[in-house]
Amino acid sequence: MSEIIKTEAVVLSKLNYGDTSYIISLYTKELGKISAIVKGARSPKSKLGLITDPVNHLQVVLYKKDTRELQIISSADLLSNFTELKSDFDKLKYSQAIIELVKKLTAEHETNSRLFHGIVRILELLNSSDEKPNILFGRFFLFFIEELGYEISLERCSICGRSIEPDAGVSFNFGTGILCHVCRKEKAESYIFTPELFNYLYCLKSRKKIEVKENLADKAISFLENYLRYHVPDFKGIQSLQIYN
Ligand SMILES: [Zn+2]
Repeated sequence: MSEIIKTEAVVLSKLNYGDTSYIISLYTKELGKISAIVKGARSPKSKLGLITDPVNHLQVVLYKKDTRELQIISSADLLSNFTELKSDFDKLKYSQAIIELVKKLTAEHETNSRLFHGIVRILELLNSSDEKPNILFGRFFLFFIEELGYEISLERCSICGRSIEPDAGVSFNFGTGILCHVCRKEKAESYIFTPELFNYLYCLKSRKKIEVKENLADKAISFLENYLRYHVPDFKGIQSLQIYN
């Protein structure tokens, strides 16, 4: 049985296929992550060839067959190609990091409309907001980690439940979570927070508007990468960010 499905999607990657077609990877609202073939799209006359670039937000119609590895795109309309984002080096870098996380770490065919909306929202913010791209990315990264099932709780000590007082000293164990100033003496510390870094993560998570020193935002991203690496051994860090460093 094949069905026709209309869904919003974000393009994760695009590869040549044969002489005339593309294979694209999509994160869709209705079907999660899928691969699809765009037949004949490399002809200069094809509108589909132009709009199926990575990062673009599309409305697609596809023929879906469960037994098939590759679905077939029958038509697509561009909802946004995030023009501003693509013309800014820094914004582009972080948008590629978002696409990379979604491509590498989400499971095929696993629907998560909350994640889908989060992806579109962060791309819109990177495109149009004047908040720093590495702060926006940090917000998304925390949210994404939560959607993968590894939420980080910052309110209370993961061992004794005491409220965290950042100035008294706070650290982190990748296995159990946040450690208060008492429990950190007993447990292995995977990471020692400065009060500034802890407060920054706290603001990121509670979606407060923040002005921070540049390196704090990057430190937070590298902490989150290490945390994710602990939980997902196949994850080797975000290549899109390493290339530029
Ligand atoms: Zn404790």
